[in-house]
Amino acid sequence: MASRLPIVLSVVLMTLTASGVDAAGPDRTGWAALVIDVQPCFVTGGALAVAGADAAYVSDVQRATKWLYQKGFLVLGSRDYHPEDHISFASNHPGHDPFEEITLPDGRVQVLWPDHCVQTAGDSRELVDNNLFLELVKKGQNPMFDSYSAFRDDGGADTELHTILQAKGVTHLVVYGIATDYCVMASVMDALDLGYSVTVVEGLLRGVAPETSAAAIADMEAAGAVFVPSVKALN
Ligand SMILES: [Zn+2]
Repeated sequence: MASRLPIVLSVVLMTLTASGVDAAGPDRTGWAALVIDVQPCFVTGGALAVAGADAAYVSDVQRATKWLYQKGFLVLGSRDYHPEDHISFASNHPGHDPFEEITLPDGRVQVLWPDHCVQTAGDSRELVDNNLFLELVKKGQNPMFDSYSAFRDDGGADTELHTILQAKGVTHLVVYGIATDYCVMASVMDALDLGYSVTVVEGLLRGVAPETSAAAIADMEAAGAVFVPSVKALN
């Protein structure tokens, strides 16, 4: 009789897990998810669609974000949110095409993009359920400066992200989103510089180009970011 007790307990636990009741996991105080730029402009059908950022990817991000939320992670995100006269739009530089690199009068190198994530347009909205987010930080609103990083723009102006994270006592960030080689990388590098521990969810990254994405992953790892294949590694 006594030897059967562990089996009964196991069955009860399995039943609880299957019914969606989480077994006690690690304490996630001080941990936050940071979802970078999962917006219509960057997914299939968007003005600046990134390879592999299709409907299945958006569903995966949604599912993972909800799972982290239910595990006790704070959830924050960023949105690229440009005015029509934004400096990164090729359409604002006559004679130049999208994906060209130009040098601005002040010496900054700027990659030119198709018009994307235009303020108040449908393609700048958030695709992950808004109810999960403590805060969605807008970036790239100054027409003169691009802002790959969710923390600050190319002119050095901070977004409110670091202040919010500090106010909430966040020390660990779990980062994923679009694009690996631009906004994810810039945000991760700034997060590390600011002293956060950073875990990057590799399976939930999508990049503009394979070569620059591979280089970005190597650079983020070298700078101290830890890579996991999926959020389930954080169970
Ligand atoms: Zn942009």
